[in-house]
Amino acid sequence: MQVPLLDLKIQYRALKEEIEPKLREIYEKQYFILGPDVQSFEEKMAEYCGTKYAIGCASGSDALVLALMACDVKQNDEVLTTPYTFFATAGAIARICAIPVFIDINPDDFNLNPQLLEKFLEENAEKKDGEVYNKKTGRKIKAILPVHLYGQTADMKAILAIAEKWGLPVIEDSAQSIGSIDGNLNKKAGNMGKIGCFSFFPSKNLGAFGDGGALTTNDENVAKRLKSLRVHGESKRYYHDEVGFNSRLDAIQAAVLEIKLKYLEEWHRGRQKNADFYNKAFNEANCDGILATPQVLRNNRHIFNQYILRVKDRDKLVDYLRENNVGCAIYYPVPLHLQKCFEYLGYKEGDLPEAEKAAKETIALPIYPELTEEQKQYVVDTILRFYS
Ligand SMILES: *Cc1c(COP(=O)(O)O)cnc(C)c1O
Repeated sequence: MQVPLLDLKIQYRALKEEIEPKLREIYEKQYFILGPDVQSFEEKMAEYCGTKYAIGCASGSDALVLALMACDVKQNDEVLTTPYTFFATAGAIARICAIPVFIDINPDDFNLNPQLLEKFLEENAEKKDGEVYNKKTGRKIKAILPVHLYGQTADMKAILAIAEKWGLPVIEDSAQSIGSIDGNLNKKAGNMGKIGCFSFFPSKNLGAFGDGGALTTNDENVAKRLKSLRVHGESKRYYHDEVGFNSRLDAIQAAVLEIKLKYLEEWHRGRQKNADFYNKAFNEANCDGILATPQVLRNNRHIFNQYILRVKDRDKLVDYLRENNVGCAIYYPVPLHLQKCFEYLGYKEGDLPEAEKAAKETIALPIYPELTEEQKQYVVDTILRFYS
């Protein structure tokens, strides 16, 4: 049996008849960049997330850069974030010449640990003239950037309380968590901080036919500024109030996304059902090699962009699964503070032990909604056979 990590062809076949006429309409109109199709999707996206505004852009990575710019993060400013995430989270900070400062994760949900965030600020930060400074580096601390990893929100109640105490804006990297709900706040990802950042990379729960991204906010001025920043900081055509860059969603992606958005809840439920199947099978198996199944904390609604196990002998298991035609992946093998490109930040091994441990123990299994019962059982059996 073959079980790919993700098979988008099944979803495409199911929606082909609906998507293709819509695309042909766009070809006839030849209106590709922003425009009415993008606006229509933005309205649906905002409605789905529960926010006043959604602003399309070219990718999740760009959404992060735009959000940081809209929070006035400048060269040499520090942004507090997690080391255990896709590269773009910290890459966006570095791209605008700001400094990522990594705070370790909570091992139960792999997200930024609010206790450590608070401790860092208590020990290092001071308020001066309405700004927050890092006493040790002399730099300004400008924002907090938690990630809702794998499909579950970070502990936003705690993070927002800390942010409020220090007067710092929170940018939510919601790239993996569209539609996930924070159980404490009863709000969706992207509707809790100042700005939410989303990716429509094809492997996300809502995936485009290429790159795409969006930002969400409830603040009218922030929405205006983001709309301007994505078109080179224009206020009106060819009048530039500040320097932005070109990062726009196109009509083709927006049309695909608007159609797919109607099915997103159904797909989330399919993933949750698959997660329940795996959890039950792995927990009942009492297998020594499986160290932890995913934990859903704080009454959250987890949308399982990834299903992550902690396991013993992870790298050998990866080889074994691949030999047996079970798709799997490691998200992520190297925490960001140990990446070569961030050597200049001065971190060393041991600095952020939970992120380092997660990078050694985690494995992602196939979880896409169209998996069959036989495929799921085969994944379970193959893993249990490896450890038997
Ligand atoms: C996918 C992802 C991004 C980047 O999105 P792109 O659309 O690929 O640029 C950023 N952050 C996280 C956590 C992601 O998973």
